[in-house]
Amino acid sequence: MAPDYHTLLLAIGLAGFCLSATLFASWMSARVERFLLSWAIGIGCIVPAVGVYSLYIDGVNVAVGCLAFLLQFLGFSFIYGAAYRFRSGNTARLRIVTLFLACSAVALPLLIAGYDGLGFIALNLLLVGCLTATAWEYWRARQEAPLPLTGIVILYLLTAFSFLLCAGVLIHDGKWVMGHAPENWAENLNLIAAIMGITGIGAMSLALNQWRVAGSHQRAAMTDPLTGLLNRRALFDRYGDMPVRENGAAIAFDLDNFKSVNDRHGHAAGDAVLTAFADILRDACGASACIARLGGEEFIVVLDRTLPDRAQRIAERIREDFASKLIPIGGRSITCTVSAGIAFGNEEGVSFDSLLSNADKALYMSKRNGRNRVSLAA
Ligand code: GH3
Ligand code: MG
Ligand code: MG
Repeated sequence: MAPDYHTLLLAIGLAGFCLSATLFASWMSARVERFLLSWAIGIGCIVPAVGVYSLYIDGVNVAVGCLAFLLQFLGFSFIYGAAYRFRSGNTARLRIVTLFLACSAVALPLLIAGYDGLGFIALNLLLVGCLTATAWEYWRARQEAPLPLTGIVILYLLTAFSFLLCAGVLIHDGKWVMGHAPENWAENLNLIAAIMGITGIGAMSLALNQWRVAGSHQRAAMTDPLTGLLNRRALFDRYGDMPVRENGAAIAFDLDNFKSVNDRHGHAAGDAVLTAFADILRDACGASACIARLGGEEFIVVLDRTLPDRAQRIAERIREDFASKLIPIGGRSITCTVSAGIAFGNEEGVSFDSLLSNADKALYMSKRNGRNRVSLAA
């Protein structure tokens, strides 16, 4: 065996070790992302697998060969598990164990029975399967971050293809029994693909993790934690300096006598009422509207392309639905009402601030006139 083959193996081992350590450190700092841990363990298994395989090359020994196979199956099963966990968020334990046992059960008996060539063909084909299944999981998740995920899919498929070539060459040459480690151009190519795969996929997985963390911080900063609606900041980010034309409208809502709900039934009951109202807003507005909780028991619905009639219908529907809603709290149910005020943009364009303040004035007209009603801005 040419010494440069060992050098390539050493390169894989070192790249794998560094990557595994980095992934492990990332997981330590964000333990919610369990897929990083699976990935770190997977790559972590490839490192000793490469070392053991070097020993096998130098002096063929069935036990050493079996150990190299087992470590590779374990590593690639964990790598698949990481992908599954990344996409679905579910634990991959059962899948990892099943995949590992199934692969071992197919390939190891061949190696032990002396058909080392067949064993290596099985190993390569099984790893093609593991890698393709891994690529498939990332492909299904590609919407989250199309560019890095497509890159990851391509790298997994390229690595899978290099294993397929290894199997293909052995099959083509009819090498069922070899008595030594396979040596051919496909094996060298496979090691180069593995180095590319490990470093490329590793870098992109870390980038992907950063992407996720940044995305979840961004969402948290824009979301009201109680109701899941947008918060004031998100609303002003979206509309803050946009003039509102005649087809734009804002509906301001303020729950009626909400303080007395808290006073009579407790703060938790108040929270349940707020959540119930948020659900009604979502049901009534659909995807076309922007719904935000401005704070306390004050909400805003912004309609981008609407007619005055429609804005009024939506506001009325929300008011009626809420007034008739029985909200369960600790074995009883309570009801609550809401007042609303609607303001529209105009031909010249109204600033978003004035639109909100007009809607607010209309809302206070509803309050003055007895609550549980909808008013239009002058
Ligand atoms: P009005 O009909 O005039 O609007 O009367 P109101 O009692 O609804 O108005 P007020 O502004 O006096 O009371 C609002 C209350 O909302 C006061 C505050 O304790 C309560 N509140 C604000 N934020 C929350 C929250 O997140 N959860 C709960 N449970 N209560 C909240
Ligand atoms: Mg209020
Ligand atoms: Mg109120």
